[in-house]
Amino acid sequence: MNKKEFKAIFKKRLAEKYAMEVEDATATELYQTLGSIITDSYSPDWYQTWQDYRKQKQKQVYYFSIEFLPGQMLKSNLLNMGWLDIVEDALADMNIDLADLAAVEPDMALGNGGLGRLASCFMDSIASRGLPGNGNGIRYQYGLFKQKFVDGYQVELPDEWLNQGNLWEVRKESKAVNVHFGGHVWMKKMLDGNLKPVYEGGSKVRAVPYDTGMVGYQNQTVNTMRLWSVEIPEEEEDRYRSVEERRAVEDLTSVLYPDDSNEEGRNLRLRQEYFFVSAGLQSILRHYLQLHEPIDKINQYVAIHINDTHPAMCVAEFMRLLVDEQNVPWEKAWDLTIKVMSYTNHTIMAEALEKWSVGMMKAVCPRIYQIIEEIDRRFVVETSWVHGEELVSRTRIIQNDQVHMAHLAIIGSHSTNGVAKLHSDLLKSVVLHDFYILYPDRFNNKTNGIAQRRWSQIANPNMSRVLDKTIGTSWRQNSNDLRLLLNYQDDDTALDALAVAKRENKIEFANYIKETTGITVSPDAIFDVQIKRLHAYKRQLLNLMHILNMYFDLKNDPTLEIPARVFIFGAKAAPSYHYAKAIIKVINEVAKLINNDPAINDKIKIVFLENYKVSLAEKIIPAADVSEQISLASKEASGTSNMKLMLNGAVTIATLDGANVEIRNFVGDDNIAIFGLTEEEVYRYYQDNSYNAGDIYNQNEKIHRVVNAFVDGTIPNILFEGQEIYDSLIKYNDEYFVLRDFDSYLAAQKTIEVAYLDTRRWRQVSLQNIANAGSFSADDTVQKYADDIWQIEPLFSHNDERGTTHGQYLL
Ligand SMILES: *Cc1c(COP(=O)(O)O)cnc(C)c1O
Repeated sequence: MNKKEFKAIFKKRLAEKYAMEVEDATATELYQTLGSIITDSYSPDWYQTWQDYRKQKQKQVYYFSIEFLPGQMLKSNLLNMGWLDIVEDALADMNIDLADLAAVEPDMALGNGGLGRLASCFMDSIASRGLPGNGNGIRYQYGLFKQKFVDGYQVELPDEWLNQGNLWEVRKESKAVNVHFGGHVWMKKMLDGNLKPVYEGGSKVRAVPYDTGMVGYQNQTVNTMRLWSVEIPEEEEDRYRSVEERRAVEDLTSVLYPDDSNEEGRNLRLRQEYFFVSAGLQSILRHYLQLHEPIDKINQYVAIHINDTHPAMCVAEFMRLLVDEQNVPWEKAWDLTIKVMSYTNHTIMAEALEKWSVGMMKAVCPRIYQIIEEIDRRFVVETSWVHGEELVSRTRIIQNDQVHMAHLAIIGSHSTNGVAKLHSDLLKSVVLHDFYILYPDRFNNKTNGIAQRRWSQIANPNMSRVLDKTIGTSWRQNSNDLRLLLNYQDDDTALDALAVAKRENKIEFANYIKETTGITVSPDAIFDVQIKRLHAYKRQLLNLMHILNMYFDLKNDPTLEIPARVFIFGAKAAPSYHYAKAIIKVINEVAKLINNDPAINDKIKIVFLENYKVSLAEKIIPAADVSEQISLASKEASGTSNMKLMLNGAVTIATLDGANVEIRNFVGDDNIAIFGLTEEEVYRYYQDNSYNAGDIYNQNEKIHRVVNAFVDGTIPNILFEGQEIYDSLIKYNDEYFVLRDFDSYLAAQKTIEVAYLDTRRWRQVSLQNIANAGSFSADDTVQKYADDIWQIEPLFSHNDERGTTHGQYLL
């Protein structure tokens, strides 16, 4: 496709769709027009990809995740189709800025944070590797809430992302299935002696899939992300008469839970889980049966991945489909289930390890509960005599009237992986140690990765151009080639060019800050970034305490020579998470105090941007100098913003937690600022119960001063919130060892300052980070899943069959 062709087609399409000229159209109309050209162009390949998988009976993976967080898709589709530059150019010829069109696309925010974003990075990489893989999730009517600050407080507004329609999805009515909830089930003896479940009462809902094409990077592969939406089944129309009854059904796929550990609405959450599990598995099985392969070979054609415990009912639902509906004997069905299923653990935080009360599960999905009971009974019988009853009592699925979903996922699958080396080691040695004794071969590590192309080529075109000039363009395809940059660590031309790109990004972002918040920041200052969900373990509080300490130092001595810093925050708190919301309020009040204190002379600015989301991350990250990854060691399973920031040349200040450990191993100690307790030291404190925050507070002058600021009126308007933070630290003994790590954090911040002042050295450190970031490509991560866990392969002679388009899409 060339520019001229595109322009002609664009104008024609706009005329057809809107009967309009380019000059008269709004950004939304232009966006819709461009989107329709894109989807029309990849649709034949989408169809062909699916046909090929079917004809070649390719083994496919189905990635079950209750969250997906793709963000905007316009530019990533353009990039993956090989169209981005031409389209941008062609639009510019027509006086259209592609950025303006891209800006009107609402983020697809069907996830809370890292978990959902990982799922979306994987979708991109699976397609880009030409691997046969599909997403399976829920099409929430409302995505993650929109965050506003009112008087410094977080206020949540609904995210009506579907208001303007969704270009990328296709409703597939013909693929709808029914999902059964509630009622009673009893087992009836059939003439052949088999037991068959008989369902009484309960209700059926219709699950309708909406498919979105997942376009691979210039390889003609278009996979499918299938998201399910609930409807009232036609045959049950007269059962649901009142508005309330209909509403109760529609609520099922109405909202994404803004909290992974929320007590409220648990029944609805459980029904959401069963809904997308059952719908997804039914549709997989239906597809499999059309291949006319025997049911007992399904493991050779299908791999199912359980992303965190939310889809863990896959184990029981798959058993139900095999045993109840396909008449597979229990033992055979169990063998197949284990071979098909695999599970990723994402957290060691106790409150996020899902458990459901037996009563609720019986009420929501009685047959599933029966099957789980039987799985549990057999597990106890078979495991006790080898490993003893004590171990079994700790690992069985049903304990104290609760169903442990992680136990179900581990027992019912062949693979359990953690998401960074430290995390996977902790699973084996502590959190899931009992299971490691039972199934040592099932445990493995798959360190998270990121969609490199989105976080470099799309987010950071300035840096991308410098990379092209310096090391050629192969890094765009294979991000491991970023390593070629290592040859330029003493090359001033390359160092300067990267620095110029960073400065351009900072100027652009400073303008954005000015427009959205009114705050003026200097691009000469260090842009210090902490962007992630607000959670006590991530320790935004530690960051804030360092800022306060800096503030007091400057107040004491206004002539203090330190480089100016802009502290940038982006974070949503779960609406029910009181403490996290208190931190937001306090950061906002500290920002107001310091930003407006003339004595500080702009040495410190604090910018807390509202409504952190993928598209905002794409603006912040290219402008970052410093990446704050300061969770308490052992608490962050992996982290992925650490990887995104590194890729964009930010220097990491970090605890030895999650993938920070691997980042350090790649860049070396000279190119990262490590501080704080190690995971061993944290566990030692737990063991001997010797931590005493009060002692530290009393003995450390700086800490005393900073902690007092929360309650002594230094910071205005935080009467309750300040007290809450003070209490968490002193009265409740500082659960996340913020005070313990404070001094070493200050020391690490000092090394950052010193390094920044040595301009050339700083640029070299930044280059080292970019060069080593290729190691965290999700392309490589999914390849490891494909080889070690899913046993799937790219389609044989993929491109040959589709002609010689060389990855370029034709119009
Ligand atoms: C990458 C990303 C995250 C994950 O950030 P962590 O620092 O790893 O917790 C969360 N939200 C969004 C929007 C992201 O892009």
